[in-house]
Amino acid sequence: MESKSDRSDECGSSMIDGHILQLILPNAIRLSLLDYMREVLPYEGGGVLLGKVHRGGPPVDTTFCAHRFFALSNILYSSTRFLADPKQTVAAVLCSRQEGETIIATVHSHPNADAFPSPRDLQEAFDYAIPHLIVGTVNSKITTNAFFYIKNPLGLSFRAIPLVFSNPIG
Ligand SMILES: [Zn+2]
Repeated sequence: MESKSDRSDECGSSMIDGHILQLILPNAIRLSLLDYMREVLPYEGGGVLLGKVHRGGPPVDTTFCAHRFFALSNILYSSTRFLADPKQTVAAVLCSRQEGETIIATVHSHPNADAFPSPRDLQEAFDYAIPHLIVGTVNSKITTNAFFYIKNPLGLSFRAIPLVFSNPIG
C-alpha cells in the first residue's frame, strides 16, 4: 500500500452520494493508534476501529464514532503493503458484536509516505460503506486522514471526510 498519491482524485468534500459524513476519533484512541503504528515500524501497521454509526439530521447525516482501536498484525511484514491477519480479523468482528458495536473504519499506516490512498489501496479496496483511516509519515511528520473509497463507472477514486478528534465524553 505504498502511496504515490494521485491527488487529482481527492476532492476534499465530505459529501458521499449526497450525504454528509464524519468520523469522530477520541484523542486517547488516536494516541494509542499512533503508538501502535510506531511500535510496528518499519512495517505498515493496521487494524480496525470498533464503534457505532449514528444517523441523524442535518448538518451531518452519518457520524462514525470510534470507541476503540483493534490492532491487526500485518502478515506481509512489509513497509509498503498491509494485509491483516485473518484470524485476528474474525476476532475483531466477534469482539465488536459483544459490545453491540460494528467495525466502523479500517486503519493502516504508510511508514514512508503521506496519508493519502495509494493506487494499490484503491485497487484492493473492498468496502465502500465505511471510512478508511490512513496514518502517513513524511520527514517525521505524522498526519492522519479519513477517506471513503468510491467505485463508479469511471473507475476507482476516493473522497476525504472530516476526521474529528474529540475528548472523551463525561
Ligand atoms: Zn496504503
